[in-house]
Amino acid sequence: MAEIRTDVVIIGAGTAGLSAAIYTQRAGKQAIVLEGESYGGQIINTLDVENYPGIKHISGFDFATGLYEQAQDLGAKIEMESALQIIDNGKEKIVKTKENDYIAGAVILATGVKRRELGIENEKELTGKGVSYCATCDGAFYRKKDVAVNGGGNTALEDAEFLTRFCNKVYLIHRRDQFRADVAEVKKITDKPNIELVLNSTIDELQTGEDGKLNGVETVDKVTGEKRVLPVSGLFVAIGQVPSNQAFGDVVALDDAGYIKAGEDTKTSAPGIFAAGDCRTKQVRQLATAASDGAVAALAACAYIEE
Ligand SMILES: Cc1cc2nc3c(=O)[nH]c(=O)nc-3n(C[C@H](O)[C@H](O)[C@H](O)COP(=O)(O)OP(=O)(O)OC[C@H]3O[C@@H](n4cnc5c(N)ncnc54)[C@H](O)[C@@H]3O)c2cc1C
Repeated sequence: MAEIRTDVVIIGAGTAGLSAAIYTQRAGKQAIVLEGESYGGQIINTLDVENYPGIKHISGFDFATGLYEQAQDLGAKIEMESALQIIDNGKEKIVKTKENDYIAGAVILATGVKRRELGIENEKELTGKGVSYCATCDGAFYRKKDVAVNGGGNTALEDAEFLTRFCNKVYLIHRRDQFRADVAEVKKITDKPNIELVLNSTIDELQTGEDGKLNGVETVDKVTGEKRVLPVSGLFVAIGQVPSNQAFGDVVALDDAGYIKAGEDTKTSAPGIFAAGDCRTKQVRQLATAASDGAVAALAACAYIEE
């Protein structure tokens, strides 16, 4: 275990974290970015980004790679280590990973969100054996097969539309009779011949075949109580997101849902610790707002160190 000193430690190499790294480096301070999985965050597996100002169309991978390379070229160090704990000693903060202790004057939390799980029996056992949380990552395994998507927001509808391109049939299971998704996303699925809407329904059972893989999803109609088994080999869960800030709840205040309490100035309850991107309390969770938070947090962190 080594002690590594730097100006700013940034936790998370998604859009917010990498934007913060770019602004920290440009302000003349050294940033170390810690990333527990792979750089880029949530957007990495998205095929089409069409609402980032100034870029008409780009894949999520190219977008994330551009940010990563820009941060690295400016001298930011990006380490593939999970941040496990922050010890706040006032003007000195220690971020602990399994491998090292990072000591910095300021910390930016940019931990994003993860997809919410269904929370039903067999889900964990069947993850990777039919149950997936990423259609763009795993969809290709279900070519010409019947699959289901669960959810009613933009991600669920995008996933369903994407899967209709090569799956035999896509059931879209949603607990209400109206979608939360944007009108543009609803329009994209409306006339697809191989999609069936299963509305007002929730999933109450995941069925396992003899091969140990998913072979059916039982739904229950919330209005009639009727149960139905959909014979699918893939289920893509897209029922919202959850933050993963529990490890830092002893140093920064979290709201009831687990988001870090911070306003547009990205300041948390702890001086010198900032929260940027989807991990903080906010209305709009998008790339543009994550990048904006990254810039604000970096400049605030640099100013804090100078105080
Ligand atoms: C399918 C999908 C499509 C989307 N499409 C669009 C779109 O077209 N346009 C748009 O504007 N937005 C889109 N979004 C939303 C956008 O991706 C998010 O708003 C944005 O990624 C938020 O960036 P972030 O940096 O705050 O968080 P994230 O992208 O979630 O990045 C957080 C990073 O922190 C890492 N991390 C978490 N905890 C730790 C820890 N303890 N230690 C180290 N690393 C950690 C994670 O591994 C992750 O890499 C989409 C989201 C999804 C899921």
